[in-house]
Amino acid sequence: MKRYQGVSVSPGLVLGQVSLLAMSSRDRSSFNRNPQNPEKELLLLEDAIRTAQSELESMASRSADSEQAIFLFQSMLLEDDSFLSEVRSYIQAGTGAAEAINRVGQRYADQLRAMTDNTYLQLRNVDILDATQRVINILCDRPRMRLTLDHPVILAADRLMPSDLFSIPAGMILGIITSEGSTLSHAAIIARARKIPSLVQVGRDFLDDCDGRIVVLDADQGVCILDPDAATRQQAVTRICTDQRASEGDMEMPLQDMPCMTRDGVSFELLANCFGPEDIDSAIQSGAAGVGLLRSDYQILAGDTFDEQEQYFYYTSCIAAAGGKPVTVRTFDFGSDRTLSNIYRGDQSAHLGMRGIRSSLRSPRRFEAQIRALMRAAARGPLRIVFPMVTNVEDWDDAMKLVAHCRQNLEERGVPYNSKVPFGIMLSIPAACLIAEDFARHGCQFFVIGTNDLTQYTHAAGREITSAERYFQPTSKAMYKLIRMSVDAAKAHGIPVGICGLAVGDPDNAVQYLHMGLRSFSMGPQNLLSVKKALLDAEALPHRAGPPQQEG
Ligand code: PEP
Ligand code: MG
Repeated sequence: MKRYQGVSVSPGLVLGQVSLLAMSSRDRSSFNRNPQNPEKELLLLEDAIRTAQSELESMASRSADSEQAIFLFQSMLLEDDSFLSEVRSYIQAGTGAAEAINRVGQRYADQLRAMTDNTYLQLRNVDILDATQRVINILCDRPRMRLTLDHPVILAADRLMPSDLFSIPAGMILGIITSEGSTLSHAAIIARARKIPSLVQVGRDFLDDCDGRIVVLDADQGVCILDPDAATRQQAVTRICTDQRASEGDMEMPLQDMPCMTRDGVSFELLANCFGPEDIDSAIQSGAAGVGLLRSDYQILAGDTFDEQEQYFYYTSCIAAAGGKPVTVRTFDFGSDRTLSNIYRGDQSAHLGMRGIRSSLRSPRRFEAQIRALMRAAARGPLRIVFPMVTNVEDWDDAMKLVAHCRQNLEERGVPYNSKVPFGIMLSIPAACLIAEDFARHGCQFFVIGTNDLTQYTHAAGREITSAERYFQPTSKAMYKLIRMSVDAAKAHGIPVGICGLAVGDPDNAVQYLHMGLRSFSMGPQNLLSVKKALLDAEALPHRAGPPQQEG
């Protein structure tokens, strides 16, 4: 456990895993392209600036009033005549467009940085670097999305640029820690506007050692604690929950204690997406009725638990943390876009390749160890097992054959296990939604709709690709049809269906999913109360709710 002092730019307390912002796309020194002739480079520059400006406009349109000026400032800079004529003269002299804009951008930024008598202008140097970096990345065909995250994290970096914050989906940033940075920077303004607990100036040492580790970020006190011990973690969780309850303050009955029922008297269930015992504990304290999705892969990503016995301990500690409430465990979902995992990368895993159950079925020994551990843990408390990325009934049948084999093994060993543990599938591929009934016919006992993947695969829009963002529509008409089909199939066969994924944590989306027939919602613990509030105020029965009108 190590404590770092910093300067608070936005208050609050969070506990989470740190993700260090990759610096590669900020590498201004190498331009992975060979310049063409000046005429072509000038055209490429114009094109890249247009793309950068449309990205900036799109970010401005999605941002709060207080943040819009930041992106408009950056966009204006890219139109500035004297700035552009300097860039053009470098290009005409034979410099490539990326290098030319880099040189001029650096010089402008250096000039502003030297303005020590005007702090406001001095800090705008970061915006110049941010805007020009955007153009450089476009010219060099580097991804503008620097971090692919599939669970909310505490972001760490030397300093943050406004676009760093916008390139990560809302809800994915629990907190921010920077080694340098300023309380007046645009990134700090955005963090404050979004109420993201943030600390700057914690020092370089922190960055060297923080990636993937757990941290308590106490921006109220201006400190962060790396690798907190159990007592420190517990204190933090208790304070987070107390603060959350205090913010419900003046309500007659705390939101958390109100029965989950819509205005027209329809019951619903709120569950949490979790990673392990610590966040299960806090999710239950925040009112979750159980864990709708335990992403089991993260025990492996942390680098320790793997064999059957170790996994058994891990799952039983999750069950204990849930205190008698049900825990739905997703079996490993490794693949190329499981960004924290290098373990199963390679030609066996790919976005549209060997993810989830496909990868598990190819590694039967690993899969069996997990299933046996889960079936044993299920004897200790309510647990369900869900297979990710199931595409067709063959996947299901193959997985269930392996389950039968595990049952037989456990019988032979004479160890206690739960032979009746329910097995279900994630509906995260359109093909699976379209034949949802077939899974029920083959014995599938429940469905969990995974909006993150279902949205990306339905719209062919990578969930981490900012430029495809306008196609990533978790409540589009197409999603409506797939979700309705899944819900209808579940109803026809009398099996439960729930929905999870980031979109569910957005209160407006949750209400739309309610109208699509869903009654069980699983989300990040931080979203439970706001979603509950929206659902309590909503009407479930869809007399006025048809499919969305836009063509998704
Ligand atoms: C999903 O796909 O909606 C989901 C919750 O799983 P993950 O984000 O882990 O892919
Ligand atoms: Mg998924």
